[in-house]
Amino acid sequence: MNTRQRMQALRRSSVGPIDVANESGIAEVLEHPACVISSGQICEHSLVDRDLNRLLFDYERTVRSRFTRIVEVLKRISMHQHDKDFTERAQQLAHEQLGFDLPSKMFEDAWVCGLDLSALHSHCIFSVLKSCVDNARTEQAGWRQRIPLDENFLRSCGYHTVDISPCSDGRLQGMSPYVLRILPGPNVQVKAYAGALFDIEADVCDWAQREVERLSGAMVDGERLDYLKIAVYHFSSSSHNGDGCAAHGSNDRQATEAALGRLDELREAIDRSFGIGAAPDVLLIGVDTDLDALRIHLPDAYGDVNSHRYIETVKIYRETLGLSAEVARARVAEIIADVENTGGWGQGQGRMNDGMRRLVSALAEANLSQIEYVIKHHTGRYATIGHDEECIVAGDAVRSLKLRNLFYFAHLDTIEEGAPDMDVGIDIFAKLNVAHGLPVPVLVHFEYDARIPESRARAVERGRRVRDAIEARYPDLVAKGLLNCAIAVSERAGDERCDFVADEVAANH
Ligand SMILES: [Zn+2]
Repeated sequence: MNTRQRMQALRRSSVGPIDVANESGIAEVLEHPACVISSGQICEHSLVDRDLNRLLFDYERTVRSRFTRIVEVLKRISMHQHDKDFTERAQQLAHEQLGFDLPSKMFEDAWVCGLDLSALHSHCIFSVLKSCVDNARTEQAGWRQRIPLDENFLRSCGYHTVDISPCSDGRLQGMSPYVLRILPGPNVQVKAYAGALFDIEADVCDWAQREVERLSGAMVDGERLDYLKIAVYHFSSSSHNGDGCAAHGSNDRQATEAALGRLDELREAIDRSFGIGAAPDVLLIGVDTDLDALRIHLPDAYGDVNSHRYIETVKIYRETLGLSAEVARARVAEIIADVENTGGWGQGQGRMNDGMRRLVSALAEANLSQIEYVIKHHTGRYATIGHDEECIVAGDAVRSLKLRNLFYFAHLDTIEEGAPDMDVGIDIFAKLNVAHGLPVPVLVHFEYDARIPESRARAVERGRRVRDAIEARYPDLVAKGLLNCAIAVSERAGDERCDFVADEVAANH
């Protein structure tokens, strides 16, 4: 944290000063709202998994350092562009600092029209993304083994599939392993939409596909398991009007009601199409993106969710800090029961089912670790509370990429349907990149199913169509060289991960 960021963090804070141990163990005085213990103490909650936090932080640091080196390396390369041995020197720098070669042609032509740093920047972003995907298995191995809400746990709560729709906002793109501590896997789908306004028809199709697998007996224990849809909205506790959800004009109430509205519509759509009672369970979650703390809205006995009936993990963290694990866990259960029983005008009809209660309790407990992660590794509140993404990903999620503010993710099949999500993303990058003369890198990524003939070829074709449509939608940016698209495909359950389609890579060279 530099001096300017520290001053900003101090100005934003709303409670008294406390001591927090930073990663080197040195206590420094900071202010933040997650923790209000007295001076001299160190935040260490009994329910926090510190080993898991260390593994997650190692991963975060590894991935971030790859991206932060890009601008530094390009600046150094640019300084040498009139040297005699420029190409060799540039390649050497790239190789040593970034771990990959850059396209030589761009250096060879530099003496005529100057170095195209804008194209090089996008090329580096895509290559670093690819490095992160290629190394994911090794670099994520440690934390993947310790994430508490894995497939077995979710099944023990009664869910064969968890379908999560967060906002496209980059601050939510590390949500599953970090904020929710849900292990990413084939049973967990993440489909992000601006404002968490997910596509009802697409969700009905995804639900129906899993229902066929369940009813056909292809799913172990399918007869007792259900599908769970989670919508995740977000807000900023220190900047409600500026750094909340861009798709809802930073209006927290609107972001909450809109996500809840979609969940209700999805249930209604499935009940009307397949019979009352067919609808999946739903859960509404809000994330305070400053702290990664949760608002978990508690469903009632009928599965109905209310925007006023929720628990807040930041309050739970404060209230249970200093208690033994056993006592703290019992207190979490009491807090949940209290909200269910005395929800006031947000009160539901009866209490949620046991599986949902098990899940909600586990989510609340697991998030305490993430709250402490932000306290310990990000000084209580993220230094950058707003946008800081590196690129836009449009299409299907790149399953092995999970990190806060790494990319803005617009889940889409066609640009016609995904246009509002892309527009919000382009607006964000107009401020982040274009205003500083940097292009917007857009990775168009689709998955294919190797069991289906010609599926890969169709994924590539869809990628090209979406790329063309994106370029047609933002002609001004294209004309100024401020929009660079690349296309990549991944095999849904196989080994091909985020492979760039060759002619698109060539086009960027
Ligand atoms: Zn948003």
